[in-house]
Amino acid sequence: TNDMLALWDRENFFHPSTHLAKHARGETATRVITGGKGVWIEDRDGRKLLDAFAGLYCVNVGYGRTEITDAIAEQAKQLAYYHAYVGHGTEASITLSKMILDRAPAGMSKVYFGLGGSDANETNVKLVWYYNNILGRPQKKKIISRWRGYHGSGLMTGSLTGLGLFHKKFDLPLTQVLHTEAPYYYRRADLSMSEADFVAHCAAELESLIAREGADTIAAFIGEPALGTGGLVPPPAGYWEAIQAVLEKHDILLIADEVVTGFGRLGTMFGSDHYGMRPDIITIAKGLTSAYAPLSGSIVSDRMWQVLMQGTDENGPIGHGWTYSAHPIGAAAGVANLNLIDSLGLVNNAGDTGAYFLAALRDRLGAHANVGDIRGEGLLVAVEFVQDRDTRTYFDPADTIGAKVAGALLAEGVIGRAMPEGDILGFAPPLCLTRAEADEIVGRLDKAVATVFG
Ligand code: PLP
Repeated sequence: TNDMLALWDRENFFHPSTHLAKHARGETATRVITGGKGVWIEDRDGRKLLDAFAGLYCVNVGYGRTEITDAIAEQAKQLAYYHAYVGHGTEASITLSKMILDRAPAGMSKVYFGLGGSDANETNVKLVWYYNNILGRPQKKKIISRWRGYHGSGLMTGSLTGLGLFHKKFDLPLTQVLHTEAPYYYRRADLSMSEADFVAHCAAELESLIAREGADTIAAFIGEPALGTGGLVPPPAGYWEAIQAVLEKHDILLIADEVVTGFGRLGTMFGSDHYGMRPDIITIAKGLTSAYAPLSGSIVSDRMWQVLMQGTDENGPIGHGWTYSAHPIGAAAGVANLNLIDSLGLVNNAGDTGAYFLAALRDRLGAHANVGDIRGEGLLVAVEFVQDRDTRTYFDPADTIGAKVAGALLAEGVIGRAMPEGDILGFAPPLCLTRAEADEIVGRLDKAVATVFG
């Protein structure tokens, strides 16, 4: 029964991101999700919800795709597991590596498989360190990320994440991690600054951080092509070109964290394609399998691979591997998923329907006194609420306005996500979203906003 599940859940299940104080006060409850089709999910009470965040922006092809579930079942029946340590592979994992490289931006060479975005970013840091050791410069170790970047919640990846929630009470960030300015024009630029001024400011901040620390101590810069969890923010025009010029000048590698942007979300196969990035490593996860099974990867560039190939026999095999790396069930899901993204034309749909959705949101809510910014690229879209739109003054965080709008929207049957910092409501629906479904989200959000602000 529902009551029994609620009891078992409360007594046994330590959920990720639990608000412990609320749990202790008995204020938390769990919605049991039982099914899904397209952009819709259903709970155990039979309530249907339009999932405008695709789970955790990962179910890119939408729910209930039998092409993927059949491929998973076939793989499970034939061979549920074998490891991928050197000398072994499966048809699915080898095929998927080829399919990923066929779709990757120019200059990429190999894919190293993991399970999720966090472990892939851990792999990336180790690869960068290994690379610098081969080049005889082991002191070139520090990694720069941005405030408001999100790269996972492990010890290193939680350090790279630039959100205070992921540091406090954990003694993070680790000492090898540095943070620089977020490319968040709406919030970080002075009201008098043009976008070009702000880009110059971001590049100058990076230059001065490198000068303070010494370029010979800095190994890599990691960034999401467009900020995700930190606020769903596309960068200002020219940002990546300016940042890359600084990195290349100081021989600092670029890791493009495409866990969210990879496989279509911005209306291009990769965010790196969208912004003209020239990464040395690309992190992939979520959209790689549309979360039908866990799988991630680190795509390594030709340039980096050529250096890794200079390792000597004395090094032995690289001391890094996971039991479930390239898991056949994840790989089978990945192959079917990438085929589906192509056959359904989802990359183009993300661009087209995303532009339609953004325009409809601006049309309906753009003039609202408490809507400060409506921004997006493809199907990564955010609405930021403010107390005063002229001065961009925040609401008191204690008012939890973002969470209240998300709650009111849920009451209207649509799932958006209140992002962890600022009153930002995020949308990242499955890439199969139709215009009619986009209209549905906008109409119901309009009602939710009226409920909260009167
Ligand atoms: N990198 C980015 C950009 C992400 O958005 C996420 C998760 O949301 C991660 C890394 C971490 O991925 P995972 O939660 O699969 O460990």
